Amino acid sequence: MELATEFVESLGWDNVLFDSSHDKCYCNNCYPTTCANVTDAGGQIYVIPRGWARIGLHVDTVTVGLNDIWNKWIVTFHGTTVNAAESILRHRQFCLPGDILINGNQLGICDGHIPNKNHIYTSPTIAYSSLPMYSKKCDFTSLNDNCDYKVQIVLQCRQKPGSYRVQGETIRAGTTRLCPFIPNSEVEYFTEIRQSVVPYGLLVKLI
Ligand SMILES: [Zn+2]
Repeated sequence: MELATEFVESLGWDNVLFDSSHDKCYCNNCYPTTCANVTDAGGQIYVIPRGWARIGLHVDTVTVGLNDIWNKWIVTFHGTTVNAAESILRHRQFCLPGDILINGNQLGICDGHIPNKNHIYTSPTIAYSSLPMYSKKCDFTSLNDNCDYKVQIVLQCRQKPGSYRVQGETIRAGTTRLCPFIPNSEVEYFTEIRQSVVPYGLLVKLI
């Protein structure tokens, strides 16, 4: 957790984005193998992000009050880059490709995406969201231990049930099973509803 905290502090993001009440470490020491691999959230399977540390994010109390997201919404993950994550948090919502961002730029459509298919993509399993094509690896040198690390980040979200569609993996995994708990045919969710996905944790993994 200390390493994850040091990395996130090194980003220099505004403190108002964070809420430590949502901090939680799922490393082997803090969350031993005797703890559950899956649980329930919003009536659906929640795959615990084992091996990751969650730095809590501020969630709008009005969103919580209107939607009861801690009890009624499911848990999903969104693998992304440091810059894209900061943009999502600063906009206070996921934007759709084609949206005009607060800096005046248009949110681009990633290479390889199908034209006219502008969606927000999430997954019910971090095994899929943390694939390096989504959660890009970056370099970090800790000033505490002077070691070099590869860092990945994934946003942990609450998502409104019934507000998205489900599809299979789109990385040509073939017969390789990506997650022991969610079949490959159900690992990708997509939606056009910006307000239906609320990030509450910045998951960090350093190796
Ligand atoms: Zn830990």
